[in-house]
Amino acid sequence: MRKIVILGAGYAGLEVARSLGRVLGRTGSAHILLVNDKEYHVFTTELHKVAAGTAEPADVTASLADLLDETGVELIVDRVEGIDPERRAVELAGGTVLAYDRLVVALGSTTEYWGIPGLRERSLSLNGLEGATAIRERVREVVQRAEEAGRQAHIVIGGGGLTGVELAGELAFRLAKGHRITVVELAPNLLVGQPERLSREAERILAQMGVTIRTGVGLNAVDEDTVLLSSGERMDYDVLLWAGGVRGNPIVAKAFPADTRDRAIVDSWMRSEAYPDVYIVGDAAAAKDADGKPVAPTAQAALAQAEVVVKHILYAGVQEEQAVAPYSGRSKGVLVSIGPKQGLGKIGAFGGSGRVWKLLKDANDIRYHLRIGARNGRTRRRETHARPNTESGRHDRAHTA
Ligand SMILES: Cc1cc2nc3c(=O)[nH]c(=O)nc-3n(C[C@H](O)[C@H](O)[C@H](O)COP(=O)(O)OP(=O)(O)OC[C@H]3O[C@@H](n4cnc5c(N)ncnc54)[C@H](O)[C@@H]3O)c2cc1C
Repeated sequence: MRKIVILGAGYAGLEVARSLGRVLGRTGSAHILLVNDKEYHVFTTELHKVAAGTAEPADVTASLADLLDETGVELIVDRVEGIDPERRAVELAGGTVLAYDRLVVALGSTTEYWGIPGLRERSLSLNGLEGATAIRERVREVVQRAEEAGRQAHIVIGGGGLTGVELAGELAFRLAKGHRITVVELAPNLLVGQPERLSREAERILAQMGVTIRTGVGLNAVDEDTVLLSSGERMDYDVLLWAGGVRGNPIVAKAFPADTRDRAIVDSWMRSEAYPDVYIVGDAAAAKDADGKPVAPTAQAALAQAEVVVKHILYAGVQEEQAVAPYSGRSKGVLVSIGPKQGLGKIGAFGGSGRVWKLLKDANDIRYHLRIGARNGRTRRRETHARPNTESGRHDRAHTA
């Protein structure tokens, strides 16, 4: 029987596994294996809420065993150590070696530190659930220490892209102007790559929430309690959060031709340039749009690429590969949340900011929960965001329903 191995159960990997499972796995026409280092799927696009303490880890995770129920997909919880595309073999940390006929690599990304001295050692990033909970704990600690000393804590966020803006907004809501938050962004404005109007709106909303925005300056070096900015200034910090970029997965870059940022080079059907029996999707791939322009690593792109791969696996060999539409890289738009009450975005010709855009963003998240059949998180209960009790360092949240 044909053996299809999928590595990584994030947005791209889970989509491929569930879709192939429904067609091939359930009928027993292929043996489909999904390997992930955790037994749960993470709603990564919602991790900033865990980092800020406005959501619990259980709200942003779902059991993979439940999500794969009745798909015929076999789940292996183990860490991928290496891939040998010549031998068509995947090596797992537990010692198992998996053979495959087709391989789908969806191992996500790692943090890009751009070689800035001291940054890796002294910052925290939103890399996975562990990263989010580490941020939450550290922020809680520094806030408590600062309050005991009768001063404000200073949280510096490096990077004012989507992740940095969402993190700043959520933290600003949680700390309710009781402490200082500064976003440092090298580009001349926030949300680089998005329409200028959205960047301006993001700056306006964050400023209203008490966040200081420093654009046009980068981080040159990081010491124990100060960052050296490209302007020559030194900025003190209590906690430094890094949201300044991602790079591919080194395991992928070791096994397949990749760009300088460890993202695998792929063709229009997301196949490795060197190994056409291997598909590489999501943040791990250097995907291009129909005009050959690089596609930003997003969950939206990961899902669209997964759909192309599913069709290609199902139909290539039956039809000419050209019968399967290649990945277009077309964006459906952008939605950004800035704390639990404000949002902004652009869908088609319409763009704007405010509460309605936040509701659209929430609806989009819920749509994804429903799409994968998640039974926890916000699909199971409605929650209200309660303001934290910053004096005690705790925060209270109320569940309705
Ligand atoms: C705070 C935040 C907000 C975001 N907001 C948005 C948004 O609003 N919209 C949007 O489109 N995108 C957003 N993104 C980006 C989006 O989350 C990523 O682009 C997306 O998660 C990429 O999907 P993926 O499947 O490639 O990787 P991931 O979802 O990261 O999945 C990778 C999987 O591989 C597993 N894995 C990794 N290494 C190994 C290993 N060695 N062995 C076994 N398993 C392994 C991981 O545990 C994980 O399950 C946001 C990101 C962050 C951090």
